[in-house]
Amino acid sequence: MRYSRSGSVQNRPSADRGISYGATHCTNGESGLEKRQDGSTRRPSWQPDDLADVFGSAVPTGRAPRVLGLFAHPDDEVFCVGGTIARCVGAGAVTAIASLTQGEAGQIRDASTATRRQLGAVRLKEFHQSVAELGVDDVTCLDLGDGRLASQPLEVVAAAAGAVIDQFQPDVIVTFGPDGGTGHPDHVTSCLATIEALRNTPDRPRLLHARFPMRGPVIVDAIVEWLTAHSERFVGTTAFGHAFKLFTDGTSMLGVSADHLHVDWFPAGSFIIEQGEPACELFCILSGSVVVVVEQDDGEMREQRSFGAGCFFGEDGLASGRPRNAHVVARDDVTCLVLAPGQPNNRVAGRGPRAVVALEAGSTSTPSTDSADVEEGFSIDVTSALDRKVAALAAHRSQYAMDPDLLPRSMLERLLGTEHFVVASVGNG
Ligand SMILES: [Zn+2]
Repeated sequence: MRYSRSGSVQNRPSADRGISYGATHCTNGESGLEKRQDGSTRRPSWQPDDLADVFGSAVPTGRAPRVLGLFAHPDDEVFCVGGTIARCVGAGAVTAIASLTQGEAGQIRDASTATRRQLGAVRLKEFHQSVAELGVDDVTCLDLGDGRLASQPLEVVAAAAGAVIDQFQPDVIVTFGPDGGTGHPDHVTSCLATIEALRNTPDRPRLLHARFPMRGPVIVDAIVEWLTAHSERFVGTTAFGHAFKLFTDGTSMLGVSADHLHVDWFPAGSFIIEQGEPACELFCILSGSVVVVVEQDDGEMREQRSFGAGCFFGEDGLASGRPRNAHVVARDDVTCLVLAPGQPNNRVAGRGPRAVVALEAGSTSTPSTDSADVEEGFSIDVTSALDRKVAALAAHRSQYAMDPDLLPRSMLERLLGTEHFVVASVGNG
C-alpha cells in the first residue's frame, strides 16, 4: 500500500481505511441513485452517452465505472469538473471528490459566513453541501494545510493522495494540470502528487487534467448580447451587482473567462463616458447613480435617463462598434466594475465618428498548451447539468456569496456550460 511509504504518515493511523491527515470522509448513501416507485433505490445502469471521452478504455465490465476528482481546495471541484461529475452521476457512474485541504487560507467574501478561525470548518461544511448538489457518492476532505502543500515533501502529499486513491479505487481520476489552472502552488502540487501517487501503481486509472481555456469566452460578449436582445432595458439591483462582480472575479481568476476587469471610482459630476469616444468597455454600476446626457449638434445637452446600482451602461457602443452615442456622467459618487474584452491600450485614440480603439494584440489568442505529457484533449458539454453545477458553486457561500439565480442564464451557459480536459500520462519517473 503506497500509504506506508511515508513514515510520518504511518505515525498517524486512522480507523478510516488508511486515510489520515485530519480527514473527514463520508459516503452519501443515496447520492447518484434512482428512486424506484416502491421507494427503494438503485443506481442507473451505465449510459456513457457522450461521456465516452471521460472514460476512454477505462470502462470496466460488470460494474459501474468509478471517477474521482482530486483537488487542492474545497470549491476547486466546481469549476474543474462539477458539470462532468454531475453528468457521470446521472449516467450511472460511482463518483468521489476529495480535497487535500480545508481551504482555510481562502478569502472570506461574506463577513457573516465565517471568521478567519472558523473558515476551515465553514468551508468543510460548504464542500459537503457542494458535492451533495452534484450528487457525488463519496467525499473526503483532508487537512494538509491550505497554502502549504508545495512546502511539504512531495512524497507526503503523494502518500495522502495515494491513500484516497487506494480507498476509492477509481477507474478515472481528474485533477489539475501541471499549470495548476490558476498557477496556485497548491493546485500544481495536487497535480504532481497525483502523478507521484500513480507512478508505481500497476493497474493505473486513467488520468485527466482539467484545463481552463484562459482566452476562452468573454463575459462582455455574453452580457452585451443579453442586454441588447431585450427591448426593455435591464434594471439591476445592488445584489445583482454584487453577484455579477463575484462571478466575474471568480471566472476571470480561473481563466474560465478572458475579460479584463477593474473597479473604478468616479466622483460626482465626472464624465464616465464621453460622447464620441471609442467604445471599448462595459460598465456595471456597483454603487451610486449615473445620468445619460446626449449632446445635440447645436451643443444643447439633453438629459435622457439615469441608472443606479446593478445596471449596465456602455453596451450600445460595444454592440455596434461605433463611438459612444451619449455622455454618461456620475450623478453622485459612483463605483463601477469595468469590463473590457481585451486590454485597451489607448482608450482616447481619438473622438468623433472616426475614433478607433486599438486592442492589445493577441488578447483572443489560442488556448494555452499544457505540458509534454499531454496526449489529447476533449470537452464535455455540461449544459444539462448546469443547474447542479451552479447550485454547487452557490454552496461555497464564503467564496461566492451570491444568488446565482440573479445572473443571466445565457452567460452561465457560455461560461460554465463546457468543461475541458486533457488525457495525461504518468510516465515512469
Ligand atoms: Zn483552489
